[in-house]
Amino acid sequence: MRSILVTGGAGFLGSHLCERLLERGDNVICLDNFFTGRKQNVLHLMNNPRFELIRHDIVHPIFIEADQIYNLACPASPVAYQFNPIKTIKTSTVGVVNVLGLAKRCRARILHASTSEVYGDPTVHPQREDYWGNVNPLGPRSCYDEGKRVAESLCMNYHQEHQLQVRLIRIFNTYGPRMDPNDGRVISNFITQALRGEAITIYGDGQQTRSFCYVDDLIRGMMLLMDQDAETGPINIGNPGEYTMLQLAQEVLKAIPESKSTITHVPLPQDDPKQRCPDITKARAVLGWSPTVDLTSGLTRTVEYYRTELAMAR
Ligand code: NAD
Ligand code: UDP
Repeated sequence: MRSILVTGGAGFLGSHLCERLLERGDNVICLDNFFTGRKQNVLHLMNNPRFELIRHDIVHPIFIEADQIYNLACPASPVAYQFNPIKTIKTSTVGVVNVLGLAKRCRARILHASTSEVYGDPTVHPQREDYWGNVNPLGPRSCYDEGKRVAESLCMNYHQEHQLQVRLIRIFNTYGPRMDPNDGRVISNFITQALRGEAITIYGDGQQTRSFCYVDDLIRGMMLLMDQDAETGPINIGNPGEYTMLQLAQEVLKAIPESKSTITHVPLPQDDPKQRCPDITKARAVLGWSPTVDLTSGLTRTVEYYRTELAMAR
């Protein structure tokens, strides 16, 4: 039986991944420092004898055994990663070196969770993997964007120098159940605001675009990338359906018809990318992957989760 390490396993994406791996019959070691992750995300897995939870920070070396490693540890919400920017950089640099070192010692294949943020505020649209990006190296998002760019470089260099089996996935905005209601990302904000009857906060004029992938599609793509032998990556995984934030607000209100929320505009954060849409030609060709859940049905499932979460918090 394979032993699979998931760093950041108590976070939003990590908890879904742990669940899928256990369903498939693997042993799962979930490692997390609980900065943005929650024990509650993996509580339902705790009684599974093939599941193990370790509180650890990847900025410190770790000595365990694993056959495969999914490195997801890193805060993903701009609010969270800007809370302590130096720590965010350390996680993507020192932390990634530690996890790559572990992979090298164990001869484990490692999948690293990179991001569409490596494309910055893109001047090419939609974004293909061969686009080098347009990142402000000094701006408030740079701790995350540049950190992730260094992490990609580290992964590729470990692959080339040490023949480490690396898989690089560039994840575009992903949403779904277990995204922390308070984490500040747009879908969790809009849904919780709409459910509470609070004003929906559109940053800037709301004409900026994002492309939203439902979590189940993303995790399927991630596992397909890990388990194929042909391609190191990077490979974009995301849903090419592109929406302005104003359109997204309307979609959220459609999914919560009883909501009395209005829309309010607040200042746009510095360096907020104007448009974002994945070109998934490579994912289709190499992995036979494409998304299956559209925004309407994904939002319906996500709203159900937040209804329960907010009811429990009362
Ligand atoms: P998340 O914040 O819910 O999960 C990140 C997890 O990593 C949390 O459980 C957190 O506690 C843990 N963590 C953070 N720093 C750590 C450290 N130093 N040591 C150990 N654990 C640490 O975010 P998510 O949406 O689940 O994102 C998971 C990964 O996917 C991240 O690497 C993120 O950059 C990447 N990603 C996510 C998206 C998205 O839309 N969800 C988009 C692009 C990339
Ligand atoms: N956004 C918004 N209102 C919010 C939160 C975010 O209009 O309450 C916008 C934000 O300015 C950005 C988009 O939604 O243009 C996506 O933001 P998020 O933080 O989810 O992810 P990222 O900017 O990293 O893609």
